[in-house]
Amino acid sequence: MASVKEFHRRSIEDRESFWREQAALVHWHKPFSRVLDYSRPPFAKWFVGGETNLCHNALDRHLAERGDQAALVYVSTEVNEERSYTYRELHAEVQRAAAMMQSLGVKKGDRVVIYMPMIPEACFAMLACARIGAIHSVVFGGFAAASLAARIDDARPKLMLTADGGSRMGKVVLYKALVDEALRLAKHPPEKVLIYRRGLDPNMPAAAGRDVDWKALAARHEGAQVPCAWLESNEPSYILYTSGTTGQPKGVQRDVGGYAVALAASMKHIFCGGPGETMFTTSDIGWVVGHSYIVYAPLIAGMTTILYEGVPIRPDAGIWWKIVQDRRVNVMFSAPTAIRVLKKQDPAYLKKYDLSSLRHLFLAGEPLDEPTHVWISQALDKPVIDHYWQTETGWPILSAMPGVEKTPIKFGSPSFPVFGYDLQLLREVDAEPAAANEKAVVAIVPPLPPGCMSTVWGDDARFVKTYFSTFSKMQVYSTFDWGIRDAEGYYFILGRTDDVINVAGHRLGTREIEEAVSMHPNIAECAVVGVQDALKGQMPLAFAVAKDGSKLATPQGRAQLEKEVMETVDKQLGAIARPRTVHFVTLLPKTRSGKTLRRAIQALAEGRDPGDLTTIEDPGALEQIRNALKEKAAA
Ligand code: ATP
Ligand code: MG
Repeated sequence: MASVKEFHRRSIEDRESFWREQAALVHWHKPFSRVLDYSRPPFAKWFVGGETNLCHNALDRHLAERGDQAALVYVSTEVNEERSYTYRELHAEVQRAAAMMQSLGVKKGDRVVIYMPMIPEACFAMLACARIGAIHSVVFGGFAAASLAARIDDARPKLMLTADGGSRMGKVVLYKALVDEALRLAKHPPEKVLIYRRGLDPNMPAAAGRDVDWKALAARHEGAQVPCAWLESNEPSYILYTSGTTGQPKGVQRDVGGYAVALAASMKHIFCGGPGETMFTTSDIGWVVGHSYIVYAPLIAGMTTILYEGVPIRPDAGIWWKIVQDRRVNVMFSAPTAIRVLKKQDPAYLKKYDLSSLRHLFLAGEPLDEPTHVWISQALDKPVIDHYWQTETGWPILSAMPGVEKTPIKFGSPSFPVFGYDLQLLREVDAEPAAANEKAVVAIVPPLPPGCMSTVWGDDARFVKTYFSTFSKMQVYSTFDWGIRDAEGYYFILGRTDDVINVAGHRLGTREIEEAVSMHPNIAECAVVGVQDALKGQMPLAFAVAKDGSKLATPQGRAQLEKEVMETVDKQLGAIARPRTVHFVTLLPKTRSGKTLRRAIQALAEGRDPGDLTTIEDPGALEQIRNALKEKAAA
């Protein structure tokens, strides 16, 4: 076994031969003539001249060997349904969906916006687009009409796909009605809307001439055969908008060949998922994690992928572990926010099921605080791997790579730079490399490796300006996250570069303080924001969710826990980081992808308007923040 360090070194110093080797993990219809064309920095072209197809790699090439193996298993605890598709069946469904789209005029290069719940048809649609060279843009089903309209106007789709409804916590969510509203708001609506009726909205209105019924059209394309379009490696495969946690979402454009290779390499060296095995990624197809690790990567690797429609605590908090047991899941991928939800539940659920098939649990999407990392590692008694990446990169930037070398896990750390990424920690002031344990901007020296975004959709200038203009001295990609590297080479992400609190000249990351607050045994999760302070410039405010809320029933109880939390922070970071107040809530305002909306909390705390909140999961959470602030002000 090579060491992770050596593997990484070779990927940077011997870039072309490294990636030529990884490229053999996927099928090329026509071999590439050059591994990398970097003649127009910072735009990188990978596997130039090569022709391939994501759908062929995900389905067709497996048919001979694993046609009867399950490819896609759909489990819905929302509508109590399970469906399983073998590779052969999925191949047939995808061809049918491709034929349906073609019959509605979709051609290579056309955009197709997919606004669908977590049902197999959404996966058919994505793979069908990939098959015919149409560019999909999946929008998370849950974004409000205005957010959807903005994405439609940016992508200008030929066709839009939706369903009558979805379901969340047993409550019907009307998708089609929301699409209708978005299309009224949009300046560039598509000509046709294809709707999969689940029977969740019996009164669903249909627009004559525009709306097409999925099932009726499908009946006419039974048994359709649609060949794969061979695409040059650098042609676009999809557009995906970033979550919008920090503001205006950006249309991330991805290629075909580089993405296929990066995903295949990541399955082998990071996730350790092999053909015939099963992967369970609890994300949503509307996020990048869903694109890469529900749909494309597991199928490219010949695995069975699980598509789960539901929440982690319904019918009870054991549901995910039951799926792991029943489906013999080998690789699981989830998010820290979900684990923190489970941490508030009875731990007995984790012991109830046979989890022997599971090798690793991977977590990404936001900082994994040390107490949660410790808790889940002990509860599962398996390696829990924190890994760090972005919509922009499409696959991990920092991670342990057990497929290369089994390095020890450090709690709270996403380990090391992944192969292909020339990662640097650069000091904000002078762009000089930071010393060990010195906080700096996480940057990637271009070219970005295969699989990363090729550009911002329709706006090359914005790509360069947004991502490569942080430092005047040199053109490097900024992640907009803070990080440190310890003396042993382990990295820690300290939060976003715009989430910094300046207390009397000391710059503190919100994440560091949150981590310290979470060290208190009765804190399940928390958010820290900086608010203006006449004396110190800024002061941290903490909003915390207690594990055991009974202690908070009285003002004395609240004051006691607040005092204890402050002492915990003092001990971890020093009194400089001590929050001015600790407010207790039962819910934090989060985006639909589970990220804390610090911006909105900060605005409320400073008496400003919280701004665009269309990505918020539960508006009730903001109400709690408002009330908590009011209560303290009155006290
Ligand atoms: P936008 O860019 O539109 O504001 P977003 O950054 O939330 O939205 P994503 O691409 O989904 O959109 O999230 C990537 C970000 O999530 C990273 O830049 C980082 O801040 C955070 N993140 C992801 N994984 C981790 C991790 N393992 N540890 C710490 N932070 C993480
Ligand atoms: Mg981002």
